[in-house]
Amino acid sequence: MHDKTLAELATGLKTREFSSVELTHAYLNRIQRHQALNAYITVTEERALAQAQAADDRLAKGEGTALTGIPLAHKDIFCTLGIKTSCGSKMLDTFTAPYDATVVERLDQAGAVMLGKLNMDEFAMGSSNETSFYGPAHNPWNSECVPGGSSGGSAVAVAARLAAAATGTDTGGSIRQPAAFCGITGLKPTYGRVSRYGMIAYASSLDQGGPMTRSAEDAAVLMQVMAGFDPKDSTSVALPVPDYRASLDDSLAGLKIGLPKQFFSDQLDSRIAKVIQDAIADYQKLGATIHDVSLPSLNLAIPAYYVIASAECSSNLSRYDGVRFGYRCQNPADLTDLYTRSRGEAFGAEVKRRILMGTYALSAGYYDAYYLKAQQVRRLIRDDFKRALTEVDVLMGPVTPGTAFKIGAKTADPLQMYLEDIYTIAINLAGLPALSLPAGFVEGLPVGLQVIGDYFAEARLLNIGHGYQQLTDWHLQAPVQPTQEDL
Ligand code: GLN
Repeated sequence: MHDKTLAELATGLKTREFSSVELTHAYLNRIQRHQALNAYITVTEERALAQAQAADDRLAKGEGTALTGIPLAHKDIFCTLGIKTSCGSKMLDTFTAPYDATVVERLDQAGAVMLGKLNMDEFAMGSSNETSFYGPAHNPWNSECVPGGSSGGSAVAVAARLAAAATGTDTGGSIRQPAAFCGITGLKPTYGRVSRYGMIAYASSLDQGGPMTRSAEDAAVLMQVMAGFDPKDSTSVALPVPDYRASLDDSLAGLKIGLPKQFFSDQLDSRIAKVIQDAIADYQKLGATIHDVSLPSLNLAIPAYYVIASAECSSNLSRYDGVRFGYRCQNPADLTDLYTRSRGEAFGAEVKRRILMGTYALSAGYYDAYYLKAQQVRRLIRDDFKRALTEVDVLMGPVTPGTAFKIGAKTADPLQMYLEDIYTIAINLAGLPALSLPAGFVEGLPVGLQVIGDYFAEARLLNIGHGYQQLTDWHLQAPVQPTQEDL
């Protein structure tokens, strides 16, 4: 059961081949057996079974949507009413959200079953899931390796079949990079396409939620519910949501693919470059044409991002003061002691580093030199993409410079960790949508192909992903062989 696509699961539920309660039990059993992967922070078994029962009742009446009765899980950055929402931090280890994020509410209303909350880097800061207060999640292809981050638990859950699909968020690569490391499909939508209401803020001008699934088709099913205007989010865009599944089978003949030369520099592992070249050759078989393009300001993306993201995080995280919610230190001597000890004891090292960098970049006298400069660079990067996307329909390249690395390999050197996002970060600065697709393996570890589209071109990206997944079977490879008891 757990090896079926969302569409197959929906059919199985509708035809009563299995019930949502049975399906939910199957996933809960798998979660139990694969606890060592550390994908989940919280498993909401009782609630899941109650939702499954309600879904079965709806289905028995012939009601329901494409997601009714299907077990999903959320990155623990999305607020869930009455359920712990930790954001991977000791700061929120005891925090129970008083409301649901819009994304959670919409999926709930569609009848999806929530299995639980997924592991992630603390406050979504990281590229390996190692900054989580709950310890790293493990890559199901090789448990000594990281799953990527920050949506590491989401990628592990989908790849290891511990949820039929999951939500994630992407500020600088956190959907696409773990999707690539775990061999699944991840879509970072255009900024403003998916509501950020109830999604704990890291860097508000960059954060965007999106689906993490086994295929582009599954991503279309999830996006259909997740996307759309939300009056509770002032940055959400009031554009109609297209039917994402309707265009999945459109022809790719004549598709103009741009290859940014900066994506194929010496920093890229040559074996990954080969995987990407093969994927591009597959697109040529589907009728696409290939063009060289240039994004001259791309090399400025990492420094600009780390100034902007740190500045925004220092402001967003100022709300964790030991007073309003989250962790509070024992016996504070006075107010200053309460603030400093609560924050000092509950934030991890990486979060503190970002807050310090951000506070510095925003302080009087440095603001123009750092923050303003970074915003100017951001504009140049956006202009580069806009120019390239007038010449071609989409851009393609790698998601990451290498495959999943060993746990602990990069924790001592933050800069090495930051360079993990060299191919993903610029897309967030520009606010564009991008898709990560499984495209092959290097030494048994998955490699992702990145497809970057124009603003609000998610339907086209999913169509391009689906076309490739009709021709190849990389997305069907599974790391954990299903055992008899799972079937
Ligand atoms: N790795 C990047 C960072 O640490 C991106 C994280 C993300 O997209 N949330 O900021």
